[in-house]
Amino acid sequence: MNILILDVYPKTTYRISKDQNGAYGTANNYGDGFVAQILKRIVKKSIDFPQLFVVQTCGELMNLGHEVDYSTELDLNKDYDLYILPSSIVCHETELEYIKLLKKNNKKIIVIGPFATSNFQPYLNAGAHVIKGEPEMFFHKFDKTVNDLNDLPAIIENFTIFPLDELNFPGWEVIFKKYTPQMKFIGRGAAITINSSRGCPYSCQYYCVYPLQQGRKLRLKSPERVVEEMIHFKKNLNVSNFLFRDPVFTLDKNHTEAICKEIIKSKYKFKICVEVHLKNIDENLAKIMKESGINLMYVGIESGDEEVRDDANRTSESNFNQVTKVKFLEKLGIRVKAMYILGLPKDTSRTFKQTVKYAKKIKSSYAQFSVFTPYPGTPIYNEYKDKINVKYFENFTQWELVFDHPNFKTREVTDLLNYAYKEYYLNPKWIIKFILDRIKDIYEGINNRLFRFSR
Ligand code: SF4
Repeated sequence: MNILILDVYPKTTYRISKDQNGAYGTANNYGDGFVAQILKRIVKKSIDFPQLFVVQTCGELMNLGHEVDYSTELDLNKDYDLYILPSSIVCHETELEYIKLLKKNNKKIIVIGPFATSNFQPYLNAGAHVIKGEPEMFFHKFDKTVNDLNDLPAIIENFTIFPLDELNFPGWEVIFKKYTPQMKFIGRGAAITINSSRGCPYSCQYYCVYPLQQGRKLRLKSPERVVEEMIHFKKNLNVSNFLFRDPVFTLDKNHTEAICKEIIKSKYKFKICVEVHLKNIDENLAKIMKESGINLMYVGIESGDEEVRDDANRTSESNFNQVTKVKFLEKLGIRVKAMYILGLPKDTSRTFKQTVKYAKKIKSSYAQFSVFTPYPGTPIYNEYKDKINVKYFENFTQWELVFDHPNFKTREVTDLLNYAYKEYYLNPKWIIKFILDRIKDIYEGINNRLFRFSR
């Protein structure tokens, strides 16, 4: 079959990632202050990659002999047997418009992804079929012909799960024909996403969408298979930069250590970014992770106020341990992006300003301040569904207050975001650290070149 993966986005001045936030997506509209505006531009130019389940779906379909194209634009002059549309909350209304247009032209459309799994009705109403569950697990055996498409049910319930090692390699070749994914904060050149596990059992699933996408049970890919995949894309697409999209890369420390050792054993020099939970990090593991090429870590701090965190069921380290661990990682040469949330249920203007002060104390290489958002499908949504004050799901950017908060108004949230980004990135201590880090990068770059030259 000829299949088009039609991945549509509204036109914006800020970056939209459908992959982040458990593949519900985020839109990096940080605020309207001076620093926030600059950051928006930098991030839009520096990071771009599709949802990993989309690339995995391409891999499964190609393996069965289907012809697969990927596009962010629709050209009705080209005809395909099947259109697969990845869903998200951040592009929801745009996706519906495209489905209606395709339907008007008598096309067969299947919508995939965690957002459609939890919120399938609007997609069905627009005229699409919906796969519930992990689409790659469904397409793994999709040896259908065009005639079979007439028998597809409106909702395809597919909650079959098999070991991650049995999946094919993701079909990055299809994406690279369209554009080169990048993540400039890890390194220059192409960057692709990968995972070594799925699922997260932590209690913050109360408000987090990752467990909705992948379940609460941890499923692991073998370390050998992870490294085989990395080497495959190094050899075939010359990729050295990898962004692990595991909800928490360090959930099973033995597994994490085994992957890092396998990478070290391979002798390949990869640059790697992972998301971790500080609870699972100790000095020994951090050193092995650094040696394997991990040079950037995302850590969720959420709030500097322990009461605010506890109230949101956040699984956390103590503030003392958070500061100590981030400083240790940075000293080791692993840059940390610490992520904070404004507007958690018990948050106030006072506790948020304390959080900004706390962020300055942590002084990680990067800091991100986003806005608490109750997502449909998560347990916390039931408490908020009658308080939602925006009309469109595309407003659920993670940088906009979408519900009536007892302690904040919409404009106040934007002002606090502007305040946070300005306080953080114009802090003289952070600026000095940033300059010293860049000098260190240049020095290491020269050293590496000299080393290669002298061999
Ligand atoms: S640790 Fe919490 S916030 Fe992070 S992925 Fe797991 S449930 Fe979500």
